[in-house]
Amino acid sequence: MGRYTGPVCRLCRREGEKLFLKGKRCFTEKCAVERRGYPPGEHGVGRRRRRQSEYALQLREKQKVKRIYGLGEQQFSNLFGRAAKLPGITGENLLVGLESRLDNVVYRLGFAPSRKGARQLVRHRHVRVNGGTVDVPSYEVSPGEEISLSSTASEMPLVREAVADSKNRDRLTWLGVDYDGLKGRMLERPSRTDIPLAAQEQLIVELYSK
Ligand code: SF4
Repeated sequence: MGRYTGPVCRLCRREGEKLFLKGKRCFTEKCAVERRGYPPGEHGVGRRRRRQSEYALQLREKQKVKRIYGLGEQQFSNLFGRAAKLPGITGENLLVGLESRLDNVVYRLGFAPSRKGARQLVRHRHVRVNGGTVDVPSYEVSPGEEISLSSTASEMPLVREAVADSKNRDRLTWLGVDYDGLKGRMLERPSRTDIPLAAQEQLIVELYSK
């Protein structure tokens, strides 16, 4: 199945929680979950969320995490396959793999308002890794590598605004960032407690273990 190209707020309403897919808007009262906190579709209003089966819960958790990081089914499943082969806890390995993607690191550094915006910067060849252009959003960033932006990107209103907003937010301990120089690096791989994500990754592991 290809990548979802419909209205992204619909995805949050489907999951019944904010997935923060739209950057700044997600923090305002314009957020669709705030305004219409019921499932999308003709029968959404007044529909009560039924008690879900174990399988449904596992599936929803997978869909939720997949959507937060903006991955397609195949990409997500490949990443899971790699996580399962690594030593340690598979669910944690999965999240670390997701967090290590170049588009996510650009977003987490605060250079883009959303992961989607970060992916566009990467695809449009505005992102450098150790000084060289990398235009592959799934590129796995390693600790120590320097992530920087092109001079064109540093003038973009989208980037300037994102950086201004990020300066006021808490920083992640596993990332070092120089906002003036528009560069940063992953200092170490994050552990589960360092990843601000409200997800029960164990449910995803259970789903794939069936
Ligand atoms: Fe989700 Fe953000 Fe849209 Fe709210 S504004 S529904 S958090 S994408």
